[in-house]
Amino acid sequence: MRLEDNLAKILIPSDRLQARIYELGAQVSRDYGDLRPLLVCVLKGGVMFLSDLSRAMNIPHELDFMAISSYGGKRVESSGVVRIILDLTSNIENRHVLVVEDIVDTGHTLNYMVDILNTRNPASLKICALLNKPARRDKDIQLDYVGFDIPNEFVVGYGLDFDELYRNLPYIGVLKPEMYS
Ligand code: 5GP
Repeated sequence: MRLEDNLAKILIPSDRLQARIYELGAQVSRDYGDLRPLLVCVLKGGVMFLSDLSRAMNIPHELDFMAISSYGGKRVESSGVVRIILDLTSNIENRHVLVVEDIVDTGHTLNYMVDILNTRNPASLKICALLNKPARRDKDIQLDYVGFDIPNEFVVGYGLDFDELYRNLPYIGVLKPEMYS
């Protein structure tokens, strides 16, 4: 099976992704300077973005990982019910935390994460999302860094899955609707 055959189109090609992530890395580096931020990757979707963003940064920083339940299985709609599956290993009290997310859709997942992380008293808490779907937002969340605003289409690739596949594609593509309808 060729995963590419199940795509309606490529939305963001690899070279545009990499160029934007390079810009974000430079911007984050300028903003944090010597603050030694902790980048918190939201697994599994954020893993490609985290690894490229981290390499695009030229300041000292640390990495940690967290997993939150989201759609699960073959679903393409958020249930709005989220829970922690894997927690951080670091103590974030008095740390400058930057949450690195693949995509913000309704905002439920991020809203839940931000609430939990804030109870741990970080020195600061900011959000860096590669993709933003503003059309579907339910929760009012401030995104401090955004790679791309995208239309309301179900996307895969560069960490984002459908039924656990497509994460390895080096670009963002739109899945053919017949794949999930
Ligand atoms: P939210 O809670 O903001 O509605 O959804 C956030 C999560 O839903 C993301 O972290 C991601 O796992 C998943 N998600 C939202 N939109 C898409 C999409 O277009 N494609 C994929 N593969 N996952 C999505």
